[in-house]
Amino acid sequence: MGKKLVWFRQDLRVRDNPALHEAANEGEVVAVFIEAQEQRKQHHESAAKVGFIFDTLLELRSELNELGIPLHIKTCATFTDQISALQQCIKEYDADSIYFNREYPVNEMERDKELVERLKKEEIAVHQYDGDLALEPSLVKNKQGEPYKVFTPYKKAWIEIHKHSPIEPLSSPHKQTSNIHNQVTEDFSQEYRHDLWQAGEVAAHERLNQFLDGVDQYKDQRDIPAVAGTSFLSPYLAMGSISAKQCIHALLEHYDGDEQKLYGNTWFSEIVWREFYRQILIDNPQIAKHKAFNTSAKEVWVNNKEAFEAWKEGRTGFPIIDAAMRQLNQTGWMHNRLRMNAAMFLNKLCLVDWRLGEKYFMEKLIDGDFASNNGGWQWCSSTGADGAPYFRIMSPLSQSKRFDPKGDFIRKLVPELEGLDNKSIHEPSVEQRKKVGYPEPVIDYKSARKRALELLS
Ligand SMILES: Cc1cc2nc3c(=O)[nH]c(=O)nc-3n(C[C@H](O)[C@H](O)[C@H](O)COP(=O)(O)OP(=O)(O)OC[C@H]3O[C@@H](n4cnc5c(N)ncnc54)[C@H](O)[C@@H]3O)c2cc1C
Repeated sequence: MGKKLVWFRQDLRVRDNPALHEAANEGEVVAVFIEAQEQRKQHHESAAKVGFIFDTLLELRSELNELGIPLHIKTCATFTDQISALQQCIKEYDADSIYFNREYPVNEMERDKELVERLKKEEIAVHQYDGDLALEPSLVKNKQGEPYKVFTPYKKAWIEIHKHSPIEPLSSPHKQTSNIHNQVTEDFSQEYRHDLWQAGEVAAHERLNQFLDGVDQYKDQRDIPAVAGTSFLSPYLAMGSISAKQCIHALLEHYDGDEQKLYGNTWFSEIVWREFYRQILIDNPQIAKHKAFNTSAKEVWVNNKEAFEAWKEGRTGFPIIDAAMRQLNQTGWMHNRLRMNAAMFLNKLCLVDWRLGEKYFMEKLIDGDFASNNGGWQWCSSTGADGAPYFRIMSPLSQSKRFDPKGDFIRKLVPELEGLDNKSIHEPSVEQRKKVGYPEPVIDYKSARKRALELLS
């Protein structure tokens, strides 16, 4: 019997990995990861994310080796090359079947379709699984069997399904006896903030456990960027070193199996938002082709270049926006409240096309994830599924005063404003700006808001 080739993609974990689990039940497993470097660039994914993936793979390789499973780490240019590389692996490792977990963006789906067709001709069996969402995407439909477009009924339906078929993450596969030899490792490492992000499945679970100890404070602290009040699990979820299923299951265990506590928990809702945006992508693949979800939403962008450059560099003259953008540029991550503020500022107040902001985020984020990033940008620009209403425009000043009341976060990220008092740090005077070399506001907030409301109504 031939070997079982497991193709790792965005599911870089040993536990709760359906493709790996099933393959190991069927026979001897050989695993492969193929980095498509050119494709990654075309998708604007950041160097930080690539670097984190590479280090995650090294951790995964040692976990797999403990189980007697070799992992070959290879590189190529495009998705088309990935298919050829897989065909080569099948021959080289004498495999008779291939196992992988589905990815939902359009190019990935098209690649997988092409692979299935090619392997059919070679009589190689292809086994595909849903490992990315906690609930299989085909399950969450309305009474007419149609997909949801609004979050709240989606979440209600999600909970109903979960009540009747609770989720149980898979354990790691059993040990195999094969001797590991000649593993390929083609280096594609990149720099990222190692001091902030420790790669791998073990690190992801440590982070989850630590977060769960204080999960009851999440509701009150999640909007305060100066406090580490969220889980920081997004990079791990984005590359699959932990699964959504494992997160939900761990939260339920934290509440000793009390489902009502789980369903009422704010963090649980956020994981369901992640599921919702994936479901939206699956049912509306056009959004992966630069299309708005809501085609009748007004798109009135003028692409203010000066504002866009200032936004990217964190020198818009709005301290909270600049702090947010500098956090992104320096760490590869941005707090959720600030992602909303930064996105609405660029799109609605500066009238820059949300697609440009979406692309810039992808180029910088260590957790860059097509479905969540696109969902977030389309929500903020009021073009998305269940998006904010067009008249919702977050005021940088009020948000700053409300969520960073003492200016602690601004002081950390915009050090030139460090010496300002708690009031003026949110909106320094002309003299204060001059003194420390901090820029004048790149837009006039009041007139920009008025213009946006007129154009978008
Ligand atoms: C404009 C914009 C762009 C975004 N881009 C991304 C992105 O590229 N990748 C990404 O993972 N998230 C993105 N988000 C969602 C959210 O900001 C991050 O998931 C969150 O800040 C990550 O921090 P955390 O892990 O500490 O989150 P927690 O608050 O601890 O939440 C736990 C997990 O739930 C999921 N989650 C939380 N909020 C959301 C949300 N609004 N939408 C979808 N999933 C969510 C994430 O997987 C997150 O790790 C974006 C949001 C906006 C408004």
